[in-house]
Amino acid sequence: MVVIGAGVIGASIAYHLAARGCSRVLVLDCGEQPGQGSTGRATGGFRAQFGSAINVRLSLLSREKLRRVQDELGVDSGYRPCGYLFLARDADQLAALLAAQHVQHAAGLYEARQVDAGAFQQLNPAVNSEGLAGGVFCPTDGFIRPLDLLRGYIDGAKRLGVQFSYAQPCEGFRMDGDRIAAVQTPAGQIAAAWVVNAAGAWAAQVARHAGVRIPITPLRRQVAATHPGDWLPEEMPMTIFVEDGFHLRVRDGRVLLLWPDQPREDDPFDASFDDAWLAPVLSRAHERIPCLADVPIDRARCWAGLYEMSPDKHALLGLAPGVENLYLANGSSGHGVMHAPALGQLLAEMILDGRATTLDAHALRPSRFAEGQPNEGTALL
Ligand SMILES: Cc1cc2nc3c(=O)[nH]c(=O)nc-3n(C[C@H](O)[C@H](O)[C@H](O)COP(=O)(O)OP(=O)(O)OC[C@H]3O[C@@H](n4cnc5c(N)ncnc54)[C@H](O)[C@@H]3O)c2cc1C
Repeated sequence: MVVIGAGVIGASIAYHLAARGCSRVLVLDCGEQPGQGSTGRATGGFRAQFGSAINVRLSLLSREKLRRVQDELGVDSGYRPCGYLFLARDADQLAALLAAQHVQHAAGLYEARQVDAGAFQQLNPAVNSEGLAGGVFCPTDGFIRPLDLLRGYIDGAKRLGVQFSYAQPCEGFRMDGDRIAAVQTPAGQIAAAWVVNAAGAWAAQVARHAGVRIPITPLRRQVAATHPGDWLPEEMPMTIFVEDGFHLRVRDGRVLLLWPDQPREDDPFDASFDDAWLAPVLSRAHERIPCLADVPIDRARCWAGLYEMSPDKHALLGLAPGVENLYLANGSSGHGVMHAPALGQLLAEMILDGRATTLDAHALRPSRFAEGQPNEGTALL
C-alpha cells in the first residue's frame, strides 16, 4: 500500500491502516520533512458547527477521537473547547446560521445554541456589537495543534511498522489497464496493490497521472499575526463575522487575523504572503475589535498557505472513478486537520472492509459530481 502525502490526512490514514494490522504501508512525500504542505500552515481551529450533516458527523467522530489521542498516540492534540462564535450582521445571515444549527442538532450536536447581543458580549467582550444582529455559539468547538497531531500519527504509524520516505515525489504511475501497477519516483518504481492519494492541494496533479480528473483546486489563505502580548485572552472563542468570513483567534499570545482572499487565477499554487492584503484585514480588525487598534503586526510571523477546495466544500473519500485501486482522501476545503482523525479511520475501513462502517460516508463519494449530486449546505466558512 502506498500513501502519497505525509500531511495530517495521509499520516492518519497510514496510522489507522496499521492499527488494523495492515503494516505494509509506505508513505511518500515530496517535502524534505513532514508538515511542509498545508498542515503546517493551519491555524488549528476545530469545530462541529457546519451546515451539512456529514460534516457535523465527521467533526463529532473526530472530536471523540481527539479526546483519546493522548492515550492512543501519546501526544496532546491540543484540543481545547474554547468555542466558536459566529456573528451575524443582519436577519438573513442569522437565519442562515440558525438553519445550519437545525442541521447540527439533528446530527447530534445538541450544545450549539443561538446567542443574543448580551450573550455574545459575555462570550467575547472585545467585539464591537454595534450593528450586529446576534449569533450562534458551540462551547465544544475550539482549538487543536495541527503539527502535534501530525507528529502523533506519524510516530504512531512508525511504531506499527509504517515507513515514511521524504523528498520522494510521485512523478507518475505505471498503469496495467484500469489498475495502478507501480508508483514512479526519482528513486525508481514502487509496486503497489493499493494507492491512496492524500496529496492535499496538489491532489489533482497526482490523480492526473492515473488519467483521472478530480475537482480539487488550491486556494490561498493568509494569516496576519500580531506580536505576542496580552491583547486578548488565549481562551477567547474563535470569532467569525459571517458577512465576509473575517475571523480571529489567539494562539501563543499572538492574535491571528484571517479574511478570505479572492481565488488567484494567475498562479493558483502561489502561497506567498501578499502585503497588500494587510490593509483591508486590519481595517476590519480595528473596526470590529477596537482594542486591537494599536496592536502591532509582526510581519515576519504572518504567513500564507493553500486550502484544498472541492466544488461543494466537502471531502472526496473513496475509490477514484475509473481506477480500480486508487483511493482519494482529498478536498476537505480548509477543514482537513480537524477531520483527519475521522477521515483516516473511515478510509481504512473502506480499504479493509469494503465500506465505511463507523458512519455512512456515501455523501463523500468522489463520483457525486459526475452524478450531479454535490452536497448541499454551506460550510459556513
Ligand atoms: C492558512 C490556513 C489555515 C487553516 N486552518 C485550518 C484550521 O483551523 N483547521 C483545519 O482543520 N484546517 C485548517 N486548514 C486546512 C488544513 O491545513 C488542510 O485541510 C489540511 O492540512 C489538509 O491535510 P492534507 O494532509 O490533505 O494536506 P497537506 O498537509 O498539504 O499534505 C499533503 C502532502 O502531500 C505532499 N505532496 C503533494 N504532491 C505530492 C507528490 N506528487 N508526491 C509526493 N507528495 C506530494 C505535500 O508535500 C504535502 O506534505 C488551514 C489551511 C490554511 C492554509
